Amino acid sequence: MKQFTYYAIALLMCLQACRSDQSKTDESETAIKLVSPDFNADSAFVYTKAQVDFGPRIPSTAAHTKCLEYLFQKLKSFGADVAVQEGPAQTFDGKKHTLKNIIAQFSPEKTSRVMVTAHWDARPFSDQDPDVNMKNKPFDAANDGASGVAIILEMARQIQQKNPEVGVDFILWDIEDYGKPNDESINETTWCIGSQYWAKNRNTKAHRPLPLYAINLDMVGGGNAQFTQDEISRKYATPIVNKIWDIGNEIGYGAYFINVPSGNLIDDHFWVNQAGIPCVDIIHYADQSGFYINWHTQLDNLNNIDRNTLKAVGQTVLETIYREKEISR
Ligand SMILES: [Zn+2]
Repeated sequence: MKQFTYYAIALLMCLQACRSDQSKTDESETAIKLVSPDFNADSAFVYTKAQVDFGPRIPSTAAHTKCLEYLFQKLKSFGADVAVQEGPAQTFDGKKHTLKNIIAQFSPEKTSRVMVTAHWDARPFSDQDPDVNMKNKPFDAANDGASGVAIILEMARQIQQKNPEVGVDFILWDIEDYGKPNDESINETTWCIGSQYWAKNRNTKAHRPLPLYAINLDMVGGGNAQFTQDEISRKYATPIVNKIWDIGNEIGYGAYFINVPSGNLIDDHFWVNQAGIPCVDIIHYADQSGFYINWHTQLDNLNNIDRNTLKAVGQTVLETIYREKEISR
């Protein structure tokens, strides 16, 4: 038995040596040593489905209220300090809402912190749908919203089991996706209402020092996703863009984190940057192809969520957090 084991190990070592001779890439992939826990994409998928199952999480609807309760309780069950920031909001169609940003903190006493955010609301209409009869209809928003939130929930679950050295803040933005079609203004934007409100009304004294940086996740579960480096991320957070994309490439997700610049995007990261925290957007977008192919259409549903993309983003962000060391500030 022992001898058999010995020979089996010897054979295995020989095979591995031959294999690594044949392919350097394979060897470097198997040699990757992660400092972060294993991000479970199946778990992230389940969290995506849980949100979708409430129905479209459109502000001021029952599905929105039920999902808020679910997200709040889930984050609490993972051991985070959870609070809801409420504020008055009016969308471009004249409707009034109470916005609800969900704020979850791990190790609030730590001064070195990383922040990760995503929007949890769903756009009320699929105005990009090719079928004109569908343009006013709601859609599942499985990728555009739910995927980023699901990755955050899975990261929170992992953090509860093994703390990183730094503290972590998660914010789930409300009313990101209720913007006026074709509104491309930045400062006066009808998009990103939750993050805008947070940037202008947060309790700055209670949250000093600021997180070292922030990462916003948006449409991070679609098939064949490619994440380019948008202008706002490059302008405000160049070293962080480089850090995340380098880690993504190093740990085997170079097909997703491509070193390609892209133009100006309106997203929640702009407002986090305005609040003085360098913030990067990980978003399925490229100048040539535009956003995720099913963006704001009926096909942004669970069938089009790809676990491989959830894994690529979740593991890369988790690895980025776990590599951070606490620094005296
Ligand atoms: Zn959207």
